[in-house]
Amino acid sequence: MAGELILIVEDNEKNRKLVRDVLQFKGYQTVETETGEEAVHLARTLRPALILMDIQLPGIDGIAALARLRAEPETRAIPVIAVTASAMTHNRQKIMASGFDGYQSKPIQVKNFLQAVEQMLARGRGAGGAT
Ligand code: MN
Repeated sequence: MAGELILIVEDNEKNRKLVRDVLQFKGYQTVETETGEEAVHLARTLRPALILMDIQLPGIDGIAALARLRAEPETRAIPVIAVTASAMTHNRQKIMASGFDGYQSKPIQVKNFLQAVEQMLARGRGAGGAT
């Protein structure tokens, strides 16, 4: 386990705690924010290996935050998994069409969630990793 840094973007404290606990238990480092604006800032300054992005957020939503990340050379290549309630207005197809690298529905299924995280990180390492 490389202990990669993962950025958690989630405005619900319970959801955030669950994701944080699960990731830290597996040895990942985590950093958190409740807003898309700060997520963009943190991504630029900390260069996390992966971003987990809620869609419904105060301020800009997860889709708008993703667009900002993709618009900047420094953050363009960071993989971003959408983590969102499946019953919400944004369905999976719309979210994937927005350019997310993956999709996980809330409440997260821990085993499936961790598999998706590990796969995405492995993909990033295969692509040459951070520079
Ligand atoms: Mn939310």
